[in-house]
Amino acid sequence: MADKFDVIVIGAGPGGYVAAIRAAQLGLKTACVEKWIGKEGKVVHGGTCLNVGCIPSKALLEASHKFVEAKHDFDDMGIQAGDVSMDVKKMMARKDTIVKNLTGGISGLFKANGVTAIDGTGKVLSKGQVEVTDQDGKATTYDADSIVIAAGSVPVEIPPTPLKEGLVVDSTGALEFQETPKRLGVIGAGVIGLELGSVWNRLGSEVTMLEAMDDFLPMVDTAIAKETQKLLKKQGLDIKLGARVTGSEVKGEEVVVKYTDAKGEQEMTFDKLIVCVGRKPYTKGVVADGAGVELDERGFIQVDDQCRTSLPGVFAIGDCVRGQMLAHKASEEGIMVADIIAGHKAEMNYDAIPCVIYTFPEVAWVGLNEQDAKAKGIEVKTGAFPFAASGRAMANNATEGQAKIIADAETDRVLGMHIVGQHAGEMIAQGVIALEFGSSAEDLALTCYAHPTMSEAVHEAALAVEGHAIHMANRKKKK
Ligand SMILES: Cc1cc2nc3c(=O)[nH]c(=O)nc-3n(C[C@H](O)[C@H](O)[C@H](O)COP(=O)(O)OP(=O)(O)OC[C@H]3O[C@@H](n4cnc5c(N)ncnc54)[C@H](O)[C@@H]3O)c2cc1C
Repeated sequence: MADKFDVIVIGAGPGGYVAAIRAAQLGLKTACVEKWIGKEGKVVHGGTCLNVGCIPSKALLEASHKFVEAKHDFDDMGIQAGDVSMDVKKMMARKDTIVKNLTGGISGLFKANGVTAIDGTGKVLSKGQVEVTDQDGKATTYDADSIVIAAGSVPVEIPPTPLKEGLVVDSTGALEFQETPKRLGVIGAGVIGLELGSVWNRLGSEVTMLEAMDDFLPMVDTAIAKETQKLLKKQGLDIKLGARVTGSEVKGEEVVVKYTDAKGEQEMTFDKLIVCVGRKPYTKGVVADGAGVELDERGFIQVDDQCRTSLPGVFAIGDCVRGQMLAHKASEEGIMVADIIAGHKAEMNYDAIPCVIYTFPEVAWVGLNEQDAKAKGIEVKTGAFPFAASGRAMANNATEGQAKIIADAETDRVLGMHIVGQHAGEMIAQGVIALEFGSSAEDLALTCYAHPTMSEAVHEAALAVEGHAIHMANRKKKK
């Protein structure tokens, strides 16, 4: 008879593997089922994030950024690097090694924490029962007191641009180019599109981004989004807003894309096209028909605030449930759910989840932006500080961007922090902590920051909320 577990987790992405490790740490007999087949033909852990998401994209972003620095910025600093060129295949090989090390590391963490790894495709049969089908088609049924579904998401495909291997690709395909395309089209100027477009733009592609929405990064504070758009345009990204793709045609080694914009019907020809129009929950086959786990109208598994599904004892977390599709959101939900299963009290603050776009400079935000706060009828006061006035930013050759704090006009409570600048993704942790601790802008203003650091811009932005920034002429002076 197959083993019985306290907890079975389906999916070993950042939601599932973290949930499994936490559950095992809390003394629960835990198994994690995974079906992802890696490049070597074996099951690998880590899900989208480690295999084709966060980590490989950052490996390429870092390499391509260093290339740009070496080619264009070193000279200013007196560094004579000579002719700089990029070996794309080597960059890709490095990325693959990082992925291999990290995914292998999870198997090690499972062993160290006593999580049983089960290779195969998991399916919730009913309350307390999971069937796992291995690569040879053999099915085994396991019992578990609690089940966590962490099945993740997959890229959305759209009818006008069917994928064609190596030519019209999704984000996964864009992480595998073996040479720099001359003319690259990217459909969708969201987080993933901007990151992938940046990689290839830095390596020399002429990148055109076609975005159906009229607004650029509408979730980001307008001032920060506008500045980001300007900076990315300066780098050579041609971002066309209000451009709705209507069709495409593969002609030999090229793809012709048709779209409409304010001027009417348009057409562009590319050597490669990346379709980055979002991701959808991946729930195919993860629950047996009639088992009692409800999906919503968009295909997400329906859950309450603590990730309980409609079937008692079954939880769902990460990209396959509502909320932001982010690795750290999935992991935090995994920890919360494991704690609840172990009998502890746990909850998540969904208002304090940071988002980062790893372009250069990075864009990072948490909480409300100014326009949304106002739309909710909240009276706000804001403070912003440009990196152009930061000593550390000058030393770093990274004076572009600004940090902005949005606070409640009456209570001074920090409602949001939005930053565009070098290391914004690191700095935003201050905003997350401010929101978590319910701190006021004054709390940040009264905090001592190390000098010289990029984070001093956050300090100055907090001071600027009352018009008291030290290193700039304040736009409003208060007593
Ligand atoms: C190019 C790209 C860049 C990204 N960059 C970032 C970033 O910088 N920061 C960030 O926070 N997020 C980023 N993301 C998003 C992030 O990858 C996801 O939010 C995250 O992976 C979601 O975690 P998850 O555990 O919910 O799902 P996933 O990571 O998708 O993992 C789900 C796992 O479940 C497995 N599975 C599914 N069904 C079954 C089944 N029936 N049986 C067994 N196993 C099953 C899948 O094989 C998979 O391994 C990026 C995504 C992409 C595509």
